[in-house]
Amino acid sequence: MHPLVSGGPLKHRYRLEQLHFHWLSEHAVNGIKYPMEIHFVHVRADLTVNQALHRKDGLAIISVFGNVQSELEDSDLHMSEVMTHVPKLMRAGNRLSGVLLDMTKLLNVDKSSYYTYAGSLTSPDCNEAVTWIIFTSPIFLTDAQYRMFANIGIVRHNFRSLQRVNQQVVYMPVETKVKVPQIVQFFVDVGKAVTDFFKNFGTFMANGIHGR
Ligand SMILES: [Zn+2]
Repeated sequence: MHPLVSGGPLKHRYRLEQLHFHWLSEHAVNGIKYPMEIHFVHVRADLTVNQALHRKDGLAIISVFGNVQSELEDSDLHMSEVMTHVPKLMRAGNRLSGVLLDMTKLLNVDKSSYYTYAGSLTSPDCNEAVTWIIFTSPIFLTDAQYRMFANIGIVRHNFRSLQRVNQQVVYMPVETKVKVPQIVQFFVDVGKAVTDFFKNFGTFMANGIHGR
């Protein structure tokens, strides 16, 4: 039995095919990324995966951001279900079978507020077949949980670089209570400080050379 999703911007019913994680997030909100993004990949219930890949409305991906918080209440331990399995999945090719996940925890966010747009898959061949639904409120994981993902043996980062919005229309919730993810904000600020330093350093060098 695949869980089904419908409603909102979806004109059909979609079955859950797989879910996976990106760290950092693939989507950015006002230019700021979250530490994590979870993708619940759904295929139109009346189509095979192959058919769905070639239809504009073939896929629906529900996306939930993950934010890091050092202290979490038991009720906010959204990732615990997944984290018990992560240590067994640290190398490429590692597999687990017979695992049951309670997805109500991973999807324990305010579902009335989301961004939506018609777009593409974020991995090759990047088929233009996806209705994206991105919830505005994140789930939370602890520092220790996040660090475990950092130790997973993949060579490169696993998010696609940001793309131009082009002619896509991104629909946003009317009353956006968008919280800027704090931890990533910190890194962005450090990045800016480094850029500013080199800009000033460059100016200093140029002035030095010209004796001004
Ligand atoms: Zn993804």
